[in-house]
Amino acid sequence: MLGEIRGEVRFKEPLSFHTSLRIGGPADIFVVPQDVDDIRHALKFAEREQLPVSVIGGGNNLLVRDRGVRGVMLRLEGCLGRAEYSGEEALAGAGVSLSALIREAAAVNLGGIECLVGIPATIGGALAMNAGTPDGGIGDFISAVYFLHPDGTLGEFKPSAASFTYRAFHAPVGAVLIGCRLRLTRRPMADIQKELRQRLKQKKSTQPLALASAGCVWKNPAGDVAARLVEKSGLKGKRLNGAEISSKHANFIVNRGGATAADILALMDLTRERVRAQFGVTLEPEIRIVGE
Ligand SMILES: Cc1cc2nc3c(=O)[nH]c(=O)nc-3n(C[C@H](O)[C@H](O)[C@H](O)COP(=O)(O)OP(=O)(O)OC[C@H]3O[C@@H](n4cnc5c(N)ncnc54)[C@H](O)[C@@H]3O)c2cc1C
Repeated sequence: MLGEIRGEVRFKEPLSFHTSLRIGGPADIFVVPQDVDDIRHALKFAEREQLPVSVIGGGNNLLVRDRGVRGVMLRLEGCLGRAEYSGEEALAGAGVSLSALIREAAAVNLGGIECLVGIPATIGGALAMNAGTPDGGIGDFISAVYFLHPDGTLGEFKPSAASFTYRAFHAPVGAVLIGCRLRLTRRPMADIQKELRQRLKQKKSTQPLALASAGCVWKNPAGDVAARLVEKSGLKGKRLNGAEISSKHANFIVNRGGATAADILALMDLTRERVRAQFGVTLEPEIRIVGE
């Protein structure tokens, strides 16, 4: 089954090569599929060997622990990497880059998703996280999601209002997302590009984009902003080895070089305790923490 995969199969692949934080131990079996059939072969293999399956897109929202991830990991960035545009709709594979989709749509005068610009993501990762900004999440634009069940059969999901919540998509259990349909809006390219430039400028001025990070570490608690709480607790700029609570944006932890997952987790523990003691609020991680 692994032998039938036309893409790549690597063993003990360091996940620090595949995460935006540049942190993470090895994945036991790391599969870079070429197509949906390859994903099916990997799923079948995992089922036969009773191994857990995990998926990585661009690795922009992941903290992988230092001993890595057991079982089979599918890397979908670059696989299923095509998008088609027709009418006011896009059909996109899970491996399409979100920024490429926004750019390509703009080139054919399709917009509406400008609020998602600057979020580093594959479409699969953006769906799984309901990536977005206060102005909207990707779920607001989705009319259908295509996925594989753990047994490799194809599924189609028509999302309802409750399917996408704050930084979460309530997908069928064990689903490997392979693509989606997005509702777009006809708009002149020049207007779209102007808005994209404004939004990117705003993002650059407030976020430490030049340093390795996984975006916002914490979800905003109801009625408040996590960055404000972390800043008020006096932790902005706090360093532990190569890890630092960003002095530019207190909800980012950056890797200034050589940070381990243990360093990031220790800063997170400190932040959670400090914010709980000072404000009685328990912060919940927005980043996904995986591995051993
Ligand atoms: C500088 C920076 C800025 C950011 N700004 C924002 C922001 O403004 N808003 C925001 O929402 N996020 C932001 N993020 C976080 C991140 O970009 C998003 O969460 C994004 O959606 C992650 O996509 P990805 O492809 O990298 O997913 P990954 O990080 O690879 O995976 C994220 C989760 O999705 C799952 N997943 C990925 N692909 C699939 C699939 N095909 N099928 C099933 N599950 C899958 C993974 O298993 C994992 O649980 C930022 C990150 C960085 C580094």
